[in-house]
Amino acid sequence: MIDPLIEPLIDPFGRTLDYLRVSITDRCNLRCVYCMPPAGVEWKPHDSMLRFEEIIRLCGIMAAMGIRRVKVTGGEPLVRKGTAPFIRSLKAIRGIEQVTITTNGLLLDTFLNEAGDAAQGEWIAAQQAAIPDAFNISLDSLNPERFARITRSPPELSAEYMPQKILSIINDLLKKNIPLKINCVPVRGFNEEDMVPIAALAKDKKIAVRFIELMPMGIASALKPIPNNEVASILEKQFGPLTPFAGKLGNGPARYYTLKGFLGNIGFISPLSHNFCESCNRLRLSSGGILQPCLSSDIGTDLRLLLRGNASDAELANAIMELVLQKPRSHTFLDLPAAAPAGLKNSMYRIGG
Ligand code: SAM
Ligand code: SF4
Repeated sequence: MIDPLIEPLIDPFGRTLDYLRVSITDRCNLRCVYCMPPAGVEWKPHDSMLRFEEIIRLCGIMAAMGIRRVKVTGGEPLVRKGTAPFIRSLKAIRGIEQVTITTNGLLLDTFLNEAGDAAQGEWIAAQQAAIPDAFNISLDSLNPERFARITRSPPELSAEYMPQKILSIINDLLKKNIPLKINCVPVRGFNEEDMVPIAALAKDKKIAVRFIELMPMGIASALKPIPNNEVASILEKQFGPLTPFAGKLGNGPARYYTLKGFLGNIGFISPLSHNFCESCNRLRLSSGGILQPCLSSDIGTDLRLLLRGNASDAELANAIMELVLQKPRSHTFLDLPAAAPAGLKNSMYRIGG
């Protein structure tokens, strides 16, 4: 293992980094208009992706440097074979306190079966099994036509999938006491009418429904966000005032509210209108092994190259620390119109959302 005296991950602005988002694939079974090109991603040889053992090794090193929580993401993480045993290994790393996953939910039932197998067919305590500690399920519409349009999925898939399948999976997870959150990205001209029905999911269920402001990355830079203050007004018109939620929900940048008569909560993640960079605690590892300090940054360290060049744990730890020392103070999304009219080159499916 690495030298335990290695500095913890503190960046030049004094922020302690304890959260890693790991993308395990660029591929996806959907083609959301704000994330994926219509034809999906170019085919890449397997060898250009980190193997699960390599990710586990890197996470072990980073856990020794202070990473405590890992989010598994993609592309769609559940399209990669072997995700359940991978999650089980992640959860077994010393120092990792929480492993969560972000998914579009399409393959969740298959995954839960696979995870059940990995746990010897029994739903034992989530801590010990191959089941993430919490799920984020992305859901931009409950209406089959609008779901098909925003995800560019075949209408028959959306009709079959939405809304019954996702709702039954959500109920299934809730029955097993697995915490979950719903993520919705409001996009002008695509899902304005969905804000109310999606928020209403938190009425009878103890879940958080979060609205994430569209970030102008890759293909999304051609689309228009619906700012979160507009979403909030739509919800207040329908449900009454949003009251700030005093309790703690998750460790991320969302601001949470309650609505009268709701069991669950409404969250807003507003990277543009309510910048939260000052408390940013995250690093991102792409499926190709590039470690990046920020969604909007084009710097990164190629850890795959180092891993396959037989770097020792200490050499990898040093490379990680060097990158942390380059973490920018803030994202540059708001500089984009002047600096880069075409939006950031980073794509969300590549860096992992
Ligand atoms: N496929 C999984 C999913 O959809 O949850 C995981 C990967 S996806 C890239 C992670 C999250 O990023 C999703 O909630 C998605 O809605 C969000 N996302 C993708 N592109 C975005 C953008 N340009 N701005 C804001 N959120 C975005
Ligand atoms: Fe796939 Fe998630 Fe991107 Fe949609 S947001 S295309 S589901 S990776």
